[in-house]
Amino acid sequence: MFKEEKVGFIGLGIMGKPMAKNLIKAGYDMVVYDIAEEPVKELVKLGATAANSSREVAEQCNGLLFTMLPNSPHVKAVLLGDDGVLTGARAGTIVIDTSSIAPLASQEVYHAAKEKGVHYLDAPVSGGEPKAVDGTLAIMVGGDEDVFNQVEDILLIVGGSAVYCGESGSGNTTKLANQIIVALNIAAVSEAFVLAQKAGVDPEKVFNAIKGGLAGSTVMNAKVPLALEGNFKPGFRIELHIKDLLNAIDTAHEVGVPVPLTAGVMEIMQALKVDGKSKDDHGGIIQYYEKLAGVQVRK
Ligand code: NAD
Repeated sequence: MFKEEKVGFIGLGIMGKPMAKNLIKAGYDMVVYDIAEEPVKELVKLGATAANSSREVAEQCNGLLFTMLPNSPHVKAVLLGDDGVLTGARAGTIVIDTSSIAPLASQEVYHAAKEKGVHYLDAPVSGGEPKAVDGTLAIMVGGDEDVFNQVEDILLIVGGSAVYCGESGSGNTTKLANQIIVALNIAAVSEAFVLAQKAGVDPEKVFNAIKGGLAGSTVMNAKVPLALEGNFKPGFRIELHIKDLLNAIDTAHEVGVPVPLTAGVMEIMQALKVDGKSKDDHGGIIQYYEKLAGVQVRK
């Protein structure tokens, strides 16, 4: 479906660029836009058409358009702004926003889009850059189920799974739950490995001994080998995880849920930000514990 028309893609950063590349590889004719020139040039070399604004992307693609942007204000600007998608999109266009944003912002955009006859799904992803490159992201979707059914196949080009979670905003609520679990898991792994290191046990041995047991996790498998090399190149930047936890804390308080552990990890991330590490990968949380304990967890 949608192969006879141009598919739009706005936001070609760490995640959006490999996702758009996978759509090109699958045979889709793409029209792309980003405020940064480099990723646009890279995709044009692969056959995509460059647009000069979000509005132009919407005008040139007839049926389907993806966005992959940092946070709620960026999504609102790209969708609802003066030169935004809704000023150029024809009625019936489906916008799939794969950014991780506040569920309330998704709902606001959903209603604004609906007034113009445009369909809007919130479809945030999990899995990071490696899974964006492989096309195996986990996708969680909110919005109208009949619209999800129309795009499920194309979602499965960029993702390994796509689960319909409920009405508009449900995808991003699911993503907030995901981000709480990932952040707390990284913090727990960091605390444990700093303890092992300072107590004199080789951290590589600890990793190999426990990864197959109940403490094992996708987070541990992804982040410990990088920490052992002192590699905190992003991946997923601490500043983006702060954004997600702020959205999680706000949403939790709005619905009356205290989130004490999330608040604690948020403060750890704030300390790392003050320490100049906000652009490190979130696996760099371990550096907070290393500084407290005066050791480094390395091979
Ligand atoms: P990024 O900063 O690398 O990419 C964002 C892109 O959006 C940039 O290229 C930027 O130039 C572009 N952009 C910003 N404002 C724009 C505008 N007004 N018009 C057009 N383009 C604009 O971020 P990322 O790591 O790709 O993350 C994007 C989203 O995906 C975030 O919500 C993030 O939380 C989520 N996410 C990231 C990861 C990860 O591992 N990096 C994993 C899962 C989800």
